[in-house]
Amino acid sequence: MSFKVVGIVTAAATAVTAAATAATLKIALSRRPAMPDNPELYTNPVPSDDADNNPHELRAMFFGVSTIALFDGETTLLTDGFFSRPSAQQVLAGRVSPNHAAIDEALQKAGIGEAAAVLVAHSHYDHALDAPAVCWRTGATLVGSESTLNIGRGYGLGEDQMKVADLEEPMTFGRFKVRLILSEHSPHPKFQGFIEAPLRAPARAKEYRVGECYSFLITHTSATGRTRNVLIHASAGFRPDCLKGYRADVAFLGVGPLGKQSTEFRNDYWRETVEMVKARRVIPIHWDDFTLPLSEPLQAMPYIADDFRVTLKFLQRRRSLDGIEFAIPEPFVKIDPFATLGSTASAPVSV
Ligand SMILES: [Zn+2]
Repeated sequence: MSFKVVGIVTAAATAVTAAATAATLKIALSRRPAMPDNPELYTNPVPSDDADNNPHELRAMFFGVSTIALFDGETTLLTDGFFSRPSAQQVLAGRVSPNHAAIDEALQKAGIGEAAAVLVAHSHYDHALDAPAVCWRTGATLVGSESTLNIGRGYGLGEDQMKVADLEEPMTFGRFKVRLILSEHSPHPKFQGFIEAPLRAPARAKEYRVGECYSFLITHTSATGRTRNVLIHASAGFRPDCLKGYRADVAFLGVGPLGKQSTEFRNDYWRETVEMVKARRVIPIHWDDFTLPLSEPLQAMPYIADDFRVTLKFLQRRRSLDGIEFAIPEPFVKIDPFATLGSTASAPVSV
């Protein structure tokens, strides 16, 4: 064969290999456990007249991954504020950037106009990508690591709208007090290191380096003086004893990719988070495939990333062993995280 023919054959073979690889990847990304259809496994929405009857009580709303809104009729806090959820093809083949239409649609659907703060757990794109855009729209302060603030700077947020994590002093937003606790990412994180200069989107997913990881201990004191403590622990990793001495009746607990970890790791993680803060209810988060849009029902991560069936079995076992409840949250559903836990759910304020 001439060099020209060899070149054509090689190019064709490369194209066939690439197509086969893409097809294999597409199949792998589509294989996943079905979400359970037992309604008892899911959180209950508040009644439709809740806003009239309990206008200033603490309520929560979930939006996939570890994006959660906490509000009390006066103040809204968000964690992460990730709504764009770029597709797997976008992530693998190119660059990611905030999807402004998706952000607007989600905020509108959730009824979020203003917010006091967006608390960012770490600066991977599935947490931090949209946070500056959400701050821009809602007037919220961007709170996170220096890496996260560099995403804010790349977006054009002013320094007066950003606050670097203070691990010593809790922050106050209305009736909320927020303590950031240095935590650990789930094992073997991708894109390690720090974002050391302003990062402007669009950028490659790998440029959203992890930075520092935080766990959020949030205390809300209602107008009637009732105190509620919530732990939001986004990533399924832990620093031994980092939550020692804190209390929270409800833990929003990151569980991806807990299904791929060892039983020993799962038990250690449970002990260092749920048991450490003496939580009585666990609301698992970060179990969904964040390459699928929020406009569609959430689905579990594909098997190549996690196995949510294993996590569910683990949660069910801990429920029967420890009596700790769990309920899976659904997006855009307003919930009372403390419903049915009773008035004794006012743990001492540790924030
Ligand atoms: Zn991460």
